[in-house]
Amino acid sequence: MIMNLSPLVYVTLDQALDIINQNIEEINGSEIIPLEQSLGKILAEDIYSFTEFPPFDVSLMDGYAFCSEAIDSEGEKEFVVASEVYAGGAVDETFNKNQCVKVATGAAVPKPFDLVVVQEEVSVKEGRVKIKGKYKKGENIKKAGEEIQKGQLLCRKGQKVDARLINLLATLGIHRLKVKQTPLVYLFSTGQELQSLGKTLSFGQLYDSNRVFLQSALKQMDVLVAGGHIVEDDFSALEKEMEEAKRSQAHLIISTGGLSVGEKDYVAQFIEKCCSVYFKKVAIKPGRPLSFSSFEGIPFLSLPGNPAAVLVCFYAFVRKALAKRMGWSIHPFLEFKAHVAIDMVKKSGRVEFYFGKVKEEQSRLRVEPISLTDPAGAFSASRADALFRLPASSTSIPKDMLVDCIWL
Ligand code: AMP
Ligand code: MG
Repeated sequence: MIMNLSPLVYVTLDQALDIINQNIEEINGSEIIPLEQSLGKILAEDIYSFTEFPPFDVSLMDGYAFCSEAIDSEGEKEFVVASEVYAGGAVDETFNKNQCVKVATGAAVPKPFDLVVVQEEVSVKEGRVKIKGKYKKGENIKKAGEEIQKGQLLCRKGQKVDARLINLLATLGIHRLKVKQTPLVYLFSTGQELQSLGKTLSFGQLYDSNRVFLQSALKQMDVLVAGGHIVEDDFSALEKEMEEAKRSQAHLIISTGGLSVGEKDYVAQFIEKCCSVYFKKVAIKPGRPLSFSSFEGIPFLSLPGNPAAVLVCFYAFVRKALAKRMGWSIHPFLEFKAHVAIDMVKKSGRVEFYFGKVKEEQSRLRVEPISLTDPAGAFSASRADALFRLPASSTSIPKDMLVDCIWL
């Protein structure tokens, strides 16, 4: 089937992603913050090490430090134990190659010693050590600068700070970081059937799960929610909410619901009347009514109300748009291919999304839809490892075909 795509209106998944990518700009602002507060932030600059690590030759064992030159033959040799060095302890004495020192794990090995023999391999008597056999230079020692050199690139602009990076920077004493400003999102739901959590539902009402999901998913990305409400199906209420969104200085507005062609679908009408439209529909299921526009210069992603569509739109679009906005350019999400576990059928002309379980079988990654009847629903999503998609052009997907997956 040939899709008749009218520009700005009905676009393919790839076109939609492209348009979002081209029209969402990276935030310029940055701030310098303490390392301890940087978890989840995006680095605003490359970081180089201003020092080497370890800063001195370190003993990796409890034992005795020798000079390799002095024990390069197989025969037994005897040395005077000239001193003892513990972790954190400094020694100012000078030693010669015919001496040795007792060293503890983590101690700085003094010069001219260049290897450590574990204490179990020597015999010690009255301040003298007997040692037999050959040992290699550098044995049981981590040399100064062996792990990290001065001036070495540690991490790059656009990388997300995680606990392992914090560990590395703390190791080197880097305690302040320049990070990107945290993006602000204004998030609202539309629909007079919606009720806030904690309130009792009247007949016909539903809990506003979309907004709670999106709030949590945004928090997971270290994005701040600037505000937002449940907006009833009324044009002037929607206008008021959008004005508030503008005042909130949000970097992005996200709404759910009200995008269909019904009389009360005011979001679609508002976009038509008050926004500059990039696209109004995407050839995907679920999530077809997803719209992208700009309201007074603020990017506006309008998601459908259907909770399955909200889940798919978040992982397939919103997350990517936000990563771009926050400057998270280095591996924001793990995308991979896996072999689909069963034969599947679909409609041609649209990409179809499923939540799936990923397993490794015979050294191959396999993805299995969690449910065929509720492919993108809340319960399926809650048990999934990945969101996977079936290509637009096919109508039948044979078992074992490779499909694109996004790790959740
Ligand atoms: P709409 O796109 O506004 O026509 O919404 C489609 C359907 O999605 C509604 O009939 C509700 O069942 C559901 N829905 C809409 N908004 C929400 C929401 N915020 N939370 C949970 N379900 C919703
Ligand atoms: Mg609605």
